[in-house]
Amino acid sequence: MNTTTPRPRQFASDNNAGICPEAWAALAEANQGHAVGYGDDPWTAKAADLIREVFETDCEVFFVFNGTAANSLALASLCQSYHSILCHEIAHVETDECGAPEFFSNGTKVLLLPGENGKIDPSGIERMVRRRTDIHYPKPRVVSVTQATEVGTVYSVDELKAVGLMAKALGLKVHMDGARFANAVASLGAKPAEVTWRAGIDVLCLGGTKNGTHVGDAVVFFNRDLAHEFDYRCKQAGQLASKMRFLAAPWVGTLQNGVWLRHAAHANRMAELLHDQIRELPRLKILFPRQANSVFAELPEAVSAGLRARGWKFYNFIGRGGCRLMCSWDTTEEDIRNFASDLKALLS
Ligand SMILES: *Cc1c(COP(=O)(O)O)cnc(C)c1O
Repeated sequence: MNTTTPRPRQFASDNNAGICPEAWAALAEANQGHAVGYGDDPWTAKAADLIREVFETDCEVFFVFNGTAANSLALASLCQSYHSILCHEIAHVETDECGAPEFFSNGTKVLLLPGENGKIDPSGIERMVRRRTDIHYPKPRVVSVTQATEVGTVYSVDELKAVGLMAKALGLKVHMDGARFANAVASLGAKPAEVTWRAGIDVLCLGGTKNGTHVGDAVVFFNRDLAHEFDYRCKQAGQLASKMRFLAAPWVGTLQNGVWLRHAAHANRMAELLHDQIRELPRLKILFPRQANSVFAELPEAVSAGLRARGWKFYNFIGRGGCRLMCSWDTTEEDIRNFASDLKALLS
C-alpha cells in the first residue's frame, strides 16, 4: 500500500475522515513540554470548562477513548444488574457495541422499542414499562435516545421533552447517545442546553471523533449525582487516559469559536446537497428524512455493485439496510457531484 498519496474521500463513515485542522493545531500546542498525566492538566480543565460553557450548566465531564466506552460506562453508572435499559431496536448500544452496555453493567438487560425513523416515543416507553411490574421482569431504569439517530434523523426539542417527561413520570433516567450530537444541534439550530438537560437528559455521551477529532468522546453528567465514583469506573474499564491532555486538547480546539458546529453544519449541508442531487433519480428510493449528515438510499443491487466497482465505499448493513451515504467535516461539493454523476450514469 502506498501510504503517501492521499486516498479519495468516501461516504462509508464520518470516522473515515481525518483530523480537522483546529483539533490538529490544538494537539500540536498540547505537545509542548510536560504536563501531569491522568487528567490533572490545564488542557483537561479547559476542555471541561468549555463543555460547561457550551451547555450553560455546571455539569460533570469525563473523557474516554470512544463512544462504546462512553455509552456503556454511562449506562452502567445508572443501573444495577437487575435493571433494564429501554432503547430503539436499532440503537447503537443494542446493535453495535458487542454487548458492552450489558457487560459493564454486569448484566443489565436492554429492552427494545420499535419506532419510525429510528426514534422512540413516549407511548412506546410507557407500554414497555407498564407491560409488567412484577418481580420477574428486569426493572426499567433508563431510557436511551440517540441524537442524531442511527438513520440520520433528528429528534426535535419537543420530541425530546416528551420523552423526558414520560421518563420522569415513570421514574426513569434518560441517557443520550450523542455520537453525532453536533450534527443534531446544527440541524436543529437550537442551543445545546435545549436539546439536553432542559429536555430532561441526565447524561450525554458527546461524540468528538466523527466530527473531526482524532479520538475520544466525552461523558457529560447534567445530573451530577449520577457521576458518583464515575472516575473509578473509567479507570477500572481501562478508560482513564495516561496522557489525558491529548484526549482533551482537540475539544479545546473544536469547542472554541463554534468550530464543532461549523464542521457539523458543513457535513449536514453536504448530505443535503447529495440528497437534492439524487432523490429524484429513477429506481432509487430515499429511506429516511434527510436531517443530519447522512442519506440512506435503496438502490438496485447491480447499481450499488457498479458504484463499488468505480471505487466508491459505503455501508449497506446499518440501520434498516439500504446504502448509507455519510458525509463528514471534509466532504466537498466536488465529492458529491462526482458520486452523483456516477450514480446517475449507473441508473440510466
Ligand atoms: C459511532 C457511534 C458510536 C460510538 O462508536 P465507537 O466506535 O465506539 O466510537 C456510538 N453511537 C452511535 C450512534 C455511533 O454512530
